[in-house]
Amino acid sequence: MSTIITNVAVVTMNETREVIQHGFAAWKGGEITAVGTMDMLEALIAEERDDEMDDETGESFRLIDGKGGILMPGMVNLHAHMGMIPFRGLGDDCRDRLRVFLLPMEQRAMDAELVYLSTKYAAAEMLLAGVTTVFDMYYFEAEAARAMDEMGIRGIAGETIMEEEACDFKDPYEALSYGESLMKKYQGHTRISACVAPHGTTTCSAGLLKAAWKLDDAFGAPFSLHTAEMDYEMDYFRETSEQTPAGYLDSLGVLGEHTLAAHCIQMTEADLRLFAKRRASVAHCIGSNTKAAKGVAPVSRMRELGIFVGLGTDGPASGNTLDLFTQMKLFANFHKNETRNRSAFPARQVVEMATIGGAKALHMEQKIGSIEVGKRADLVLVETRSANMFPIYDPYSALVYSAGPSNVDMVFVEGTCVVKAGKLAEKSVEVLRGELAGKMAKTAFAEEVLFSL
Ligand SMILES: [Zn+2]
Repeated sequence: MSTIITNVAVVTMNETREVIQHGFAAWKGGEITAVGTMDMLEALIAEERDDEMDDETGESFRLIDGKGGILMPGMVNLHAHMGMIPFRGLGDDCRDRLRVFLLPMEQRAMDAELVYLSTKYAAAEMLLAGVTTVFDMYYFEAEAARAMDEMGIRGIAGETIMEEEACDFKDPYEALSYGESLMKKYQGHTRISACVAPHGTTTCSAGLLKAAWKLDDAFGAPFSLHTAEMDYEMDYFRETSEQTPAGYLDSLGVLGEHTLAAHCIQMTEADLRLFAKRRASVAHCIGSNTKAAKGVAPVSRMRELGIFVGLGTDGPASGNTLDLFTQMKLFANFHKNETRNRSAFPARQVVEMATIGGAKALHMEQKIGSIEVGKRADLVLVETRSANMFPIYDPYSALVYSAGPSNVDMVFVEGTCVVKAGKLAEKSVEVLRGELAGKMAKTAFAEEVLFSL
């Protein structure tokens, strides 16, 4: 049975970035079948009436009145650590949160069930904010993949590997083979896939980076890692070699089309040119980077060079929120300031990065990132009845500068409604929160928090 959402401004994000001011979109199963103006709707409905009837409803199609809202493609969060919800708000405003605080706590308190429950909660938070695809990288990723699948989000589960002992594996090569079995398990799955994701340029040996690259390459999966982000990382390269992180990755043969480098704040012109030459992509996390006072990545130059750049939230312990509305606003503000140019990065370009830009960075642009016939039906209806959404002269501007997660009315992933009237369609945030809080109270995590406070 087809579903048709009517009476919406369709922000298609197609090649010409067409906006259909008074339009509709239709889909059947998980695939978009028609997009057009409201005056084309009659003909479509007549066609649909001849179609097979649904046994239960006696209808051959379902109509949803979009009530003048904005229909946009589902947003793509290119970099997240969904298992880290329990750490949100901890260690904020302290100097070295990662090494002094997070890594030791992760070691002692993180386990498979906590990752599972945290990932479910994070998926709920993202879906409610219109994020329909997420690249996750954390530990116990079989649990994360299971959680994402149950929540109905589209996701890539990146099993993090690093040289030192992690909370799930002592030996990184065990983590590598765990990742491989995950990749095999989800091959051919409609929404979920997997990869191995090295932690960073200095937390993995050259051999480990190469082994991860080889595995991801064999599966056509993204090879994603933190790059040119941390001061200790840059110091390490300055002190031990003549290379930059980007140059180092290239010298190992692990910088290529499937590389998705997170952050890339401290990049030289030569690094940027190398990224462009190798067609590597960047997950830009403006909220996390600026909160941690790490600087602003040179995104205007990246775009000039044709590097694919999308937006990421980073983990909830880094940027605190998992929605891309926040990232879009921060992105516009910081980059306009950085370039001292009010007209830099117009709203359309910012929406691009949150949708089709993210899809391109993942090489998934044939499937997602725009509202076009033949693509998967990952759609977000943003309502325009709330106080903050009036008046609207330009839907792009409304999405970037006015809208927030509370304006997300409906969300569809692979054609299935996962958010309805601003609430999860099949799950309850209260229940998910209760389960996660219950687990947090029972684990070593609670003791760690009490101890550290
Ligand atoms: Zn990260």
